[in-house]
Amino acid sequence: AKTNNRTSFVFASKTINQDVYESLALKTELAYALDHNELSLVFQPKMEIKRQQFVGGEALVRWNHPELGFVSPDRFIPLAERSGQIIQLDWWVLKAVVSQLTEWQRLKLPLVPIAVNLSMPTFTRNHFVDDVATLLAESGIRGDLLEFEITERVALGDIKKTQAVMTELRKLGISMSIDDFGTGYSSLSYLHTMPISTLKIDRAFISNIETTETKQGITTAIIAMAKALKIKTIAEGVETAEEQSYLATLGCDQVQGYLHSKPLPPKEFSAWLIPGIH
Ligand code: C2E
Ligand code: CA
Ligand code: CA
Ligand code: CA
Repeated sequence: AKTNNRTSFVFASKTINQDVYESLALKTELAYALDHNELSLVFQPKMEIKRQQFVGGEALVRWNHPELGFVSPDRFIPLAERSGQIIQLDWWVLKAVVSQLTEWQRLKLPLVPIAVNLSMPTFTRNHFVDDVATLLAESGIRGDLLEFEITERVALGDIKKTQAVMTELRKLGISMSIDDFGTGYSSLSYLHTMPISTLKIDRAFISNIETTETKQGITTAIIAMAKALKIKTIAEGVETAEEQSYLATLGCDQVQGYLHSKPLPPKEFSAWLIPGIH
């Protein structure tokens, strides 16, 4: 038994070292990626359920490393949050979204609002709102073409600060959504104190909702509450027509997910912007 314990201890510590080593290496690699255009964006369409109308998109970051290949955001976003690189990454994404909108505008495509995911350090950093205002002014892109998605964790981090930042962003025309709703603290009392336009119901409550009673209960409650507060709802990770029609009966406003489209590279997403196609 003694040998076994020792073996497993050695094994465990080796794995931890390996993890630390990999994170360190990845951190260096990410710093390089941020400076050398290894990051790119994909865009996922958002659909209004009732009229099946294309109403917007969400920008998601992609990292294609020359040797490691495609690295998942679920791996490098948490790492970037711990290392502080997330501030630089979020800013890279926001600038890339604005320049993409400028490009689509130049091509005379009708634009839809594009959502950008923002982390807590970005949302609370100094001069964030001023920098956004400058970015919009210099590009000539209207604020109402941007939406910021933040999680409950971010919204509840420093409530006074969050309220102030959101209020300033609203003045620029930017709308605010709560991402992954239902998975965090779900402290509902803060919702009406912040200028939030949309709740994004987490994928965990959506998959097979039409046959899962607990998910139905939670989602019904979220939608009812959102309606009372005059906040829109969007379900994320909708993969089947059954999920979508069940959500329609609950009065959910929008859906996003593989049912309509996976996240697309800019060229493919721009086809969605052409009137009459979707
Ligand atoms: P999220 O914001 O909740 O994004 C939704 C994730 O679900 C995306 O994964 C998307 O590709 C995936 N997804 C969309 N539709 C479906 C579906 O029908 N079924 C399934 N199974 N999955 C679907 P992705 O792109 O890997 O991003 C993972 C997370 O990484 C995001 O979760 C977000 O928290 C973070 N992230 C991605 N891009 C950015 C970014 O630019 N900035 C920041 N701060 N975080 C980002
Ligand atoms: Ca999101
Ligand atoms: Ca989400
Ligand atoms: Ca998520």
